[in-house]
Amino acid sequence: MVQVNTNYLKLKAGYLFPEISRRIKDFSSKNQNVDLIRLGIGDVTEPLPLACRDAMKAAIEEMGTEEGFRGYGPEQGYQWLRESISKNDYLSRGCDISAEEIFVSDGSKCDSSNILDILGKDNKIAVTDPVYPVYVDTNVMTGRTGEANLAGEYQGLSYIPINSENGFEAAIPKEKFDLIYLCFPNNPTGAVATREQLASWVKYAKENNSLILFDAAYEAFIKDDSIPHSIFEIEGSKDCAIEFRSFSKNAGFTGTRCAFTVIPRCLKGQAGLEEVDLWSLWNRRQSTKFNGVSYVVQRGAEAVYSKEGQIQIKKLVSFYMDNAQIIKSNLTAAGFEVFGAVNAPYAWIKTPKNMNSWDFFDFLLEKANVVGTPGSGFGAAGEGYFRLSAFNSRENVEKAMKRIVKL
Ligand SMILES: *Cc1c(COP(=O)(O)O)cnc(C)c1O
Repeated sequence: MVQVNTNYLKLKAGYLFPEISRRIKDFSSKNQNVDLIRLGIGDVTEPLPLACRDAMKAAIEEMGTEEGFRGYGPEQGYQWLRESISKNDYLSRGCDISAEEIFVSDGSKCDSSNILDILGKDNKIAVTDPVYPVYVDTNVMTGRTGEANLAGEYQGLSYIPINSENGFEAAIPKEKFDLIYLCFPNNPTGAVATREQLASWVKYAKENNSLILFDAAYEAFIKDDSIPHSIFEIEGSKDCAIEFRSFSKNAGFTGTRCAFTVIPRCLKGQAGLEEVDLWSLWNRRQSTKFNGVSYVVQRGAEAVYSKEGQIQIKKLVSFYMDNAQIIKSNLTAAGFEVFGAVNAPYAWIKTPKNMNSWDFFDFLLEKANVVGTPGSGFGAAGEGYFRLSAFNSRENVEKAMKRIVKL
């Protein structure tokens, strides 16, 4: 019989979102006709910006002509999109990132997983806790960890707690790690990293020859001008960081699929006694295993940088951030301790009376018919917290707040 990858069997059985679905299904079958409001999964809800739709329609028409038809595109993305990204997201902020250093892809979730393809098995790895589960689970799947303990922590991974005691600041480790995952603005806590904090991380990485994997999927939600949008705003970061960015959250592309990964040309890894270009390995990986994002979708992504596109995505982002503000102010007034929701579309709520995360989930589901995400699903240090997402209609957010405040 065929052998399976037994690393998959180490994954914790009750993965977060399936368990949430199970509890909702169970509740709904016993309580028919209840109007449930879902502020759980981090998916966007507003329609695609018009500029993106128009660009994609035009691209489809082009594909229907002899001259405009295109087959396989470059695995790294079309040059015009890579140049647009370089110019608008990096050069404009003083980051020296060229088009060549940008790899267009169909998602940051895949890129942040696939990057492990080009990295060795014996790296010492650190993640924050709580954490976006993808970073952890892909390390488990590829055999880079041992088994999980009861709290869900895997042997061989190190966890850097971010919680209210340390002001949601990931403390610089005393130990040496080869690989560190950072996500700011943070999912799930909504915390941001200041320029000083990021500079300390870059300093640490350079001193220890570490690689930082920086996930900036939520950079568009930063309101505070002093907060960096990219790790490459920090001097020296090109020697020690890879950045993941996505059109999913700023432009509503979660279903359309387009993202990009930035790998500086000068970034090195180690192979025995030799130094190797990470850029070349990733280029090789993408050329072999990936055939690029569709022409139509890349035209849609390019339109994000047009004048109309910029106006439309700013409007989209502020719509969600107004939701976040409504959530934060209502829950704070009702006596909850609420973090995040200022530079990120997530409110991270301390559960009342030290209720555990899943008990609070059941409580909100049953008493307010509101679905959120239990903090413990994002890691052991998320226990005692709860995430509410700002991705929903205004009507639903207001209704959900009325119900919670009344409890
Ligand atoms: C939503 C999200 C992404 C984006 O993933 P895509 O695959 O590009 O849709 C990346 N990182 C985090 C932490 C996210 O929450």
